[in-house]
Amino acid sequence: MNADLERVIALQRLDSAAEAARKKLVDEPEHEKALDARLEAAKLHVATAKAKLAENKSARGAIDKDVALHQGRLSKYREQAMAVKTNQEYHAIQHEIAHAQGEIKTHEDRMLERMLEADDLTATIKKAETDLAAEQKAIEADRKAMKAEHGELQTALERITAERAQIIGALDKQVLLTFEQVARKRNGVAVAEAKDGICTICHVRLRPQVFNTVRRNEEIVQCDSCNRILFFVPAPAAAPATSNASPQPAS
Ligand SMILES: [Zn+2]
Repeated sequence: MNADLERVIALQRLDSAAEAARKKLVDEPEHEKALDARLEAAKLHVATAKAKLAENKSARGAIDKDVALHQGRLSKYREQAMAVKTNQEYHAIQHEIAHAQGEIKTHEDRMLERMLEADDLTATIKKAETDLAAEQKAIEADRKAMKAEHGELQTALERITAERAQIIGALDKQVLLTFEQVARKRNGVAVAEAKDGICTICHVRLRPQVFNTVRRNEEIVQCDSCNRILFFVPAPAAAPATSNASPQPAS
């Protein structure tokens, strides 16, 4: 294979890897924000359930007071009932007693509902707290992985920069210029594999003699359509690949 062609293929591989690494680094703050939001949501579930239980508790306190009030009245009416003089007074006080008993019953029914609700809310809190603990653990693990990946990405970028400089130092200046011009215009991808007579990136069919030249991998040939520098990966059976002719992912 033409040594410069080999170099631009290697250069493209490095540039694509660097681009992917940079994209991951750029995405980190967004990822961090998403983790924060997940944690906040889990905390909010706990806080909401706790607030509902507190509200339930104060409602039960109010019901207790109502029951006590009506019980107070009830005992007062019962005392009064002992001292009634007339039939009319007796009926009036019996009516008050029945009313107070009815109120007590109503409030006790409400209390029962509130107590059942409190059981549900307690279970909800427990579940929300378990979920929160699991989320905290998962998020912490995610942060740790992200931190480790951050370090790996930085290291990879440094290595890529060093390897890139080495390749560029050896590369023909005109070929480098072509590579850079095409990369600028084509979203950072200046090299394309030609396969079955087609440029695998822009999918335009190459002229037969162009494809024949590309197949030999001995010259810098550009795609007529997208201008990318073309290379050919021989089929392993037809022509065993040399250690240098490794396939280039068409990214
Ligand atoms: Zn093309």
